[in-house]
Amino acid sequence: MQTKFWQLDKNKKLEIQLAQAAELVRRGEVVAFPTETVYGLGANGLDSEAAKKIFAAKGRPADNPLILHIADKKTMKLLSTNLSPSALRLMDSFWPGPLTIIVPKSPLIPTEVTAGLETVAIRMPNHPIAKVLIELAGGPIAAPSANKSGKPSPTTAQAVKEDMEGVIAGIIDGGASNIGVESTIVDTTAPIPTILRPGGITLEMLEEVLGVVEIDPGLLQANQRPKAPGMKYRHYAPRAEMYLLEGKDVSTEICYFVTQARAQGKKIGVLAAGDVVSKLAISEQIILHSWGSTQAELAEKLYDYLRRFDQENVDVIVAQGVSEEGLGLAIMNRMRKAAGNNILKAENGKLILQSGTIPSFL
Ligand code: AMP
Ligand code: MG
Repeated sequence: MQTKFWQLDKNKKLEIQLAQAAELVRRGEVVAFPTETVYGLGANGLDSEAAKKIFAAKGRPADNPLILHIADKKTMKLLSTNLSPSALRLMDSFWPGPLTIIVPKSPLIPTEVTAGLETVAIRMPNHPIAKVLIELAGGPIAAPSANKSGKPSPTTAQAVKEDMEGVIAGIIDGGASNIGVESTIVDTTAPIPTILRPGGITLEMLEEVLGVVEIDPGLLQANQRPKAPGMKYRHYAPRAEMYLLEGKDVSTEICYFVTQARAQGKKIGVLAAGDVVSKLAISEQIILHSWGSTQAELAEKLYDYLRRFDQENVDVIVAQGVSEEGLGLAIMNRMRKAAGNNILKAENGKLILQSGTIPSFL
């Protein structure tokens, strides 16, 4: 399939520039588009055949439901049979924005979209291109992240191209996504609203609006099954084996890890705080990415760094863990998954295996 590219011009009307992409969506094709979280792979959310094309393009397991994207809050009434007070409060407080709300599904929504569940995930993105595309398409757009299943989510049109060129009808280039991690998912059908996936809207922000909020135990404990079907799969994984190093002050341990890997002739990717990165000698064998100065900056760049390690063909990646406050909960969730749960802890100057496997060079 020939994939069309639309390079948008800021000085021209979006309605005109997006007309062809919207027409393709109306005809049941799949088009990638930018949102403030990551790029989405969009198709008509009320058309089961179109939804099947998304699963095929991504290689996504059929039991992993899609999120419906809408352009105005009124559409919620058509898509759900019952909006609880907490759902309404969340829509009021955080839409448009990086929050996905789980509600009871209306019969309008095909079972392929919800993977047979009686609930549906809905989000109103805060991005002008997403908004206009949904409006022109004339209905909700089902859109998972625009990567091949298992790979890091794309935050640029170039990253979408790497995974989807020749596979989907078109890609809209709207610049880099500025949040960089996927939306927070909150289940409002549970007795107490529950976070199924941490993301751009933090636990602290949700508690301010809802009072008590639970976190799905499946997110925190490896032996519990997550409530969001997709969260059980390996995700965001770069090609290289990746290790996450958790603990308070791990700079000595990261340097040790790097020295050991280099001694074995490995090319190594490092993602760590600026002061740790500056301790490491620059060499062709080390690709360094520094966190940046805020959590938001790290979230924005995280997937891009993982994809760049792939492009540099590193053998091993070591990432330094962050505090789980605020956006840190989402960042750590993505890093743990990217590392396939290979987690090392620094304790009294020693590296201790927390879960997963220990690298052969340690
Ligand atoms: P993605 O489309 O890649 O952002 O992933 C969407 C996530 O939302 C996956 O983890 C899905 O399992 C989850 N999800 C979608 N619909 C539901 C639902 N009705 N109940 C629980 N989780 C859902
Ligand atoms: Mg995804």
